Amino acid sequence: MDGYDYIIVGAGSAGCVIANRLSADSRNRVLLLEAGGSDRYARIKAPIGYGLTFHDPKMNWRLHAARDPSLDHREMYWPRGKVLGGSSSINAMVWCRGLDGDFDDWRAAGNPGWSAAETTAVFERIERRVDADGVKTGVGLQWVSDRSRDLHGLGQSYMEAATEIGLEKGNTISGEGVGPYWSTTRDGRRHSAADAFLKQARKRRNLRVITGAEVTRLDFEGRCARGVSYLHRGQALHAECRGEVILCAGAVKSPQLLQLSGIGPAEQLRTLGIKVRLDAPCVGGGLQDHLGMSYAYRASEPTLNQVLGTKRGQLASALQYLLKRNGAFSLGVNQMGGLVRSRAELDRADIQLYFTPLSYSTTYRNRRPLLRPDPWPGFVLGFNPCRPTSRGRIDIASADPMTPPTISPNALSTNADVSAMIAGARLIERLLATSAMRRVVVAENGFSPVGKSDDEILADIRARAGTVFHPCGTCRMAPREAGGVVDPKLRVWGIERLRVIDASIFPNITSANTNAPTIMTAMRAADFILEE
Ligand SMILES: Cc1cc2nc3c(=O)[nH]c(=O)nc-3n(C[C@H](O)[C@H](O)[C@H](O)COP(=O)(O)OP(=O)(O)OC[C@H]3O[C@@H](n4cnc5c(N)ncnc54)[C@H](O)[C@@H]3O)c2cc1C
Repeated sequence: MDGYDYIIVGAGSAGCVIANRLSADSRNRVLLLEAGGSDRYARIKAPIGYGLTFHDPKMNWRLHAARDPSLDHREMYWPRGKVLGGSSSINAMVWCRGLDGDFDDWRAAGNPGWSAAETTAVFERIERRVDADGVKTGVGLQWVSDRSRDLHGLGQSYMEAATEIGLEKGNTISGEGVGPYWSTTRDGRRHSAADAFLKQARKRRNLRVITGAEVTRLDFEGRCARGVSYLHRGQALHAECRGEVILCAGAVKSPQLLQLSGIGPAEQLRTLGIKVRLDAPCVGGGLQDHLGMSYAYRASEPTLNQVLGTKRGQLASALQYLLKRNGAFSLGVNQMGGLVRSRAELDRADIQLYFTPLSYSTTYRNRRPLLRPDPWPGFVLGFNPCRPTSRGRIDIASADPMTPPTISPNALSTNADVSAMIAGARLIERLLATSAMRRVVVAENGFSPVGKSDDEILADIRARAGTVFHPCGTCRMAPREAGGVVDPKLRVWGIERLRVIDASIFPNITSANTNAPTIMTAMRAADFILEE
């Protein structure tokens, strides 16, 4: 198939949606290029495999951020999906839309068409919800399941503790409140964006998907995108299109590709010997992420440690999974939590909570040893502030496309973010003081905020806090004069026939996990393209 109308770079959460929507019209010839390979691995499909994909070079870019001065100069590990489905194939599967206020903020930042009223309608077209009783609602392609029947019993104590401190129960998909998380699973198997949007669409003759195709540069005629150059099986190839090039390479790689193609901070590009096509200092700027913190405890009753940490438990869980597609192997690690207010007088939730009925004190070179938990009963209470104000950058380190870019998270660089982290830790302290938690906690397993000063809590945060893998905002949607990289229809300002559609366009980070809003972004953008 030659003469494409659209070339999509990256088959991740956003790219799969765009490929599906654009190829639904058989008149459109669509090429989808993905650097990674097939997603047909048991460790992708079975939710328990999360611990394995976390560091697997077959499906993970395995990036590292630069040393962060606010985090004791630590270099954080940044997993990103490099496989069909992108990060939705290796993520922890929590499905949260974010809060209405997040999208009203997007609109207020100068982006018509992105208010909560408009984006809620889009989420409704995406989701196929299966509640705890198996009742299905919603007409969308993305399956999201409430697995509360399968969750570990200790979650009940967590819910009681939350109620004791006045946190309300809620539906964790779209609002505030505590409860079980919904997950992107279908009948106990991961349901990635590739499963939801690409699998069926691949049968269409007008969609060509090439895996193992790493785009190295966008090609232009003047300021008009005309195609891309890519590497496939060691060969340098080129694809052209009549219509648009659509970058869906994610919050790290989309700005990297723009910069490699001469769209970025002019001075910096020249230093690296790159011909400047458009001086756009904001490309790569505006990076936001959620900074997470967790505290582990020894429990008075068995937790998932006693299931996943023993040969017998593993065998029983594996059998249960194979025969019934449920049990411990069918669940994500973050079983409960929600968006809550650390102080009642706030007008919006400011903290996201996580409860994990599993603990592992030893990490093995960044691996998540889900099948090697602590030998004693243990669990983890975690949180991250919802809307950090710190912003970092992503910049190419070299003109060589194979050199990973420099990721400077610049986390915890505002006083507001420092206060928000302490507020989160204090919320955990309040949870631990409840009778429900006192009944199940035997001892602290490492640092705990209980009875500590703010300075001690902060020192521990600087020593241990880490990304929860939600980078966004590196090609922000905003008016050009306000530092925007793309306009409200996600077209790159100053360039023709080029869009960026992925988590990098978020004007501000949403209050919760970023997969759902990324898929919503792609669905909305597809509407714009098809309307045009
Ligand atoms: C370990 C982990 C856990 C997470 N947990 C959750 C969670 O529980 N819930 C949640 O909502 N979010 C979670 N997230 C975040 C969420 O998955 C992402 O925000 C979302 O998937 C981003 O989608 P995207 O389309 O922007 O990028 P991606 O899904 O990362 O897709 C980008 C795609 O582009 C490809 N690509 C990149 N460069 C090139 C190139 N040069 N040529 C060709 N292809 C290229 C990549 O290989 C990839 O497939 C998690 C992320 C990670 C990594």
